[in-house]
Amino acid sequence: MFTLETPSEIAGTVDALIIGAGPAGMTAAVYLARKKRSVAIVAEDIGGQVAWTIGIENYMGYQYITGRELTSKFEEQVRQFPIPIVTDEVKELRMASEGFVAVTEGGREISSRTVVIASGKRPKELGVPNERRLIGRGLSYCATCDGPLFAGLEVAVCGGGNSAIQAAIEMAQVAAKVYVVSRSPWRADAVVAEKAEGLKNLEKRVGFVVVDVIGESRVEGLRIRNRESGAEETIPVRGVFVEIGLAPNTAFAKGLLKMNGSGEIEVNCRCETNVPGIFAAGDVTDVFEKQIVVAAGEGAKAALSAHEFLIRRG
Ligand SMILES: Cc1cc2nc3c(=O)[nH]c(=O)nc-3n(C[C@H](O)[C@H](O)[C@H](O)COP(=O)(O)OP(=O)(O)OC[C@H]3O[C@@H](n4cnc5c(N)ncnc54)[C@H](O)[C@@H]3O)c2cc1C
Repeated sequence: MFTLETPSEIAGTVDALIIGAGPAGMTAAVYLARKKRSVAIVAEDIGGQVAWTIGIENYMGYQYITGRELTSKFEEQVRQFPIPIVTDEVKELRMASEGFVAVTEGGREISSRTVVIASGKRPKELGVPNERRLIGRGLSYCATCDGPLFAGLEVAVCGGGNSAIQAAIEMAQVAAKVYVVSRSPWRADAVVAEKAEGLKNLEKRVGFVVVDVIGESRVEGLRIRNRESGAEETIPVRGVFVEIGLAPNTAFAKGLLKMNGSGEIEVNCRCETNVPGIFAAGDVTDVFEKQIVVAAGEGAKAALSAHEFLIRRG
């Protein structure tokens, strides 16, 4: 197989616009290109959540593969086809005479006959004043990605679910001390919680809310408040990991598509949304389970449904 040069811009109206280049979006692109459909991808990055993952042990065909390697393999497969991949953020999706128009942050207006939304999820924010300013300066949303940078330092993990406690266990291997700050009792699976409870350098702070992250040029502490007494204190940490869950990237489709209470796009088993011609796949949808293999499978289904829709439309 040879790799074609990937066009960097999208010309005219494409048969299918794919929003997102995670496993769902990249799989959908390959399926549609193999049906000889004109396809374009617009995505903020290539890889999505897979690119943040250190090791994957449950994607068939690989007993172990790093997130970056799997991303490269997906991308390599997409680049076998002349599919334009535009790095941009979709801000708005609207109906148009030929189908749909996606408006991007960079000012593009991309026209397509169908759309496959595969925009996945992103980490939820704490919503405290200094949070955004300190991202990448000691504040991270991914212990798996950034953890090694905090070797020998004291850090805090915010959250009490599976991802938070797993992040705390991971951090306890490299950091001097790990504080786990949660509003309410841990909700992690018993087996995960038991493992964390046994760690000598892990300290639980249950019943606390985060007031702010402290620091000028980088994180110097985490200000927390006891929900019962109202007393505040600052934990002197150099790293803060926010692990309070993920939210679907659906802002651009609000008002257009039907979503569930968690903001996920509602799809049927053919990945059809409530708007004919718009399909959705992967973590951004209400599909049962959020996994790479599930997202890739859903991406394939969405692509085949879009192809069938285009045949019916003629
Ligand atoms: C730390 C971590 C570890 C994980 N480990 C595993 C594991 O071991 N095994 C497993 O099976 N699963 C794992 N998962 C889950 C798995 O990564 C996801 O289920 C999968 O990546 C979902 O794929 P997706 O294509 O639906 O979305 P995503 O991977 O979230 O990709 C979304 C894509 O959409 C783009 N995008 C978002 N908004 C916009 C917008 N407005 N405009 C344009 N583009 C946009 C993003 O840039 C990205 O390219 C893990 C997840 C995390 C966070």
